[in-house]
Amino acid sequence: MLSHTILKRALELERAIPAFNVPYLPMIEPVAEAIKREDTVAFVEVARPEWEKFESKSIEAVHEEFSRVADTEFVRLHLDHIPVIDEDNRRVDYLSLIKRAVDCGYHSVMVDGSRLPFDENVQATAEVVVLAHARGIPVEAELGAVLGHEATPQMSYEEILATRTGFTDPDEAERFVRETGCDWLSIAFGNIHGAISEALRHKQKVAATLDVNHLRQIRDRVGIPLVLHGGTGIATETLLDAVRNGIAKVNVGMDIRRVYEDHLESAGVEAAQQGVLERTRELLREHFRISGMSRDLLTDPA
Ligand SMILES: [Zn+2]
Repeated sequence: MLSHTILKRALELERAIPAFNVPYLPMIEPVAEAIKREDTVAFVEVARPEWEKFESKSIEAVHEEFSRVADTEFVRLHLDHIPVIDEDNRRVDYLSLIKRAVDCGYHSVMVDGSRLPFDENVQATAEVVVLAHARGIPVEAELGAVLGHEATPQMSYEEILATRTGFTDPDEAERFVRETGCDWLSIAFGNIHGAISEALRHKQKVAATLDVNHLRQIRDRVGIPLVLHGGTGIATETLLDAVRNGIAKVNVGMDIRRVYEDHLESAGVEAAQQGVLERTRELLREHFRISGMSRDLLTDPA
């Protein structure tokens, strides 16, 4: 089944598809294996910082390893954050990166114009939609700012929440989806990314709380699957509440990255892969048990 159909179905059923980030190539095999063993559907995904600042090498390297180890009946490959302006405030040649992913066979892509003014974000996203849709590939976009990737954070999590900094505006979301034609939308409503800068990435992530009322307002305006970035450190009950109110894809990065890095340091690659396999299965069984999609739900009852 196509990624597009999977998320639509998840939205209808008030479920969510987990998407696991892979900043190290050897993580792909155990993640894909865990998804298959749990008989569920989920994404493997990679974002630009993960080959620039970690060790997933390149768009093509991830695709090659994915093709070697993943069963696409269970696992789909998604290109996560391709920023137009990156976390260090540099301009990125996003179109050529996205074109490379489309050319080598990713099942869906994301363009992140969230650091641009609204109109420029619309323009950049619409450009990517034209490119990807010509090949039948769905596009995720971001509106509002899911903070946390910056090397020098401007404020604490408590301040972000209290001031609602970066929160996606429901009116803008409606206009954005209409004008860009994007398929899925990443929004900010209290969620935060795990840190990626060298100085901050080893710190414990804060436990995020979510403003589900805010989420509901956006859901009521846009009618497309919404994406929750920063899935690590959200309580299972809170996650479930979000999933019942429009979140149809949940990104998980830091959780399994920490497991991989901790094992790698003390016991080597194989132990790190084993750790990721076990932790991913545990997340699928416990954290996503009620909210995730088992494969039988994908079959249309009609
Ligand atoms: Zn993200």
